Amino acid sequence: TPKGPDPALITSNLRSVKHKLLILSGKGGVGKSTFTSQLAFALAHDPETRNSDVIEVGVMDVDICGPSIPKIMGLEGEQGHQSGSGWQPVYVQDNLAVMSIGFLLNDPDDVIIWRGPKKNDLIKRFLRDVEWGELDYLLVDTPPGTSDEHLSIASFLKESGIDGAIVITTPQEVALQDVRREIDFCRKVKIPVIGVVENMSGFVCPNCKGESIIFPPTTGGGAQMAAEMGVPLLGKIPLDPRLGRACDEGVSFLDEYPDSPASKAYLEIIEKIR
Ligand code: ADP
Repeated sequence: TPKGPDPALITSNLRSVKHKLLILSGKGGVGKSTFTSQLAFALAHDPETRNSDVIEVGVMDVDICGPSIPKIMGLEGEQGHQSGSGWQPVYVQDNLAVMSIGFLLNDPDDVIIWRGPKKNDLIKRFLRDVEWGELDYLLVDTPPGTSDEHLSIASFLKESGIDGAIVITTPQEVALQDVRREIDFCRKVKIPVIGVVENMSGFVCPNCKGESIIFPPTTGGGAQMAAEMGVPLLGKIPLDPRLGRACDEGVSFLDEYPDSPASKAYLEIIEKIR
């Protein structure tokens, strides 16, 4: 392990990472990990079909108590390995690297009983010791809510800088209240809010192509909340059972269903954040 003050080591380790984005949600189950993984797949997608240079993408899964990224990125059962002074991420393809606590545990239930300091130490080591190499984007999948882990990430990355946070929500009011709390948190710790994504926003029936509203917003939904909070609404991703299935199979939804409304929503979001 390299020696020196941690913030300096973290900054040095992440010096070749151009953009660092945190993915946040007020509560669990709103689709934060789904969004992180599908955004990563979409960014790293074959450049020929996207008319741009190869984009190097890393995904850091610090959702310590529920690391679902390995499964939904098709990497279940992979092991992280130590090399020299650091950890090697696991690669989905040449330009898509993933690091998750899920790669380091023999029993995924082990981590549930970890106390704060142990979690914070792991987050520090992920930032300091994982050999990402050159990355255009590092997407950090965080636990739901605002916990000690979020404070750790914010303070560890203060020196090297965070581009900002993307907050995932569903249209229901509870989730939206939770989003307000996330945005307040970002403001307190001085992380810019890139915007809000409304997930499971309506249901597009794959058979009839009709759209139904599953979770009717009791406020004005994500758009009004975003306007009230003074942050952009980056997009609305419909509920699509095929998206859930792509995640179960660990594959890229955009590759499988490029013309679906959900894929179009992802591409619009990418346009906004690039
Ligand atoms: P979180 O990370 O916020 O806890 P997940 O990403 O694990 O949530 O998503 C929760 C569940 O919802 C998963 O089963 C996932 O496949 C499903 N899901 C998420 N977004 C969508 C969507 N837009 N359409 C259909 N299913 C979705």
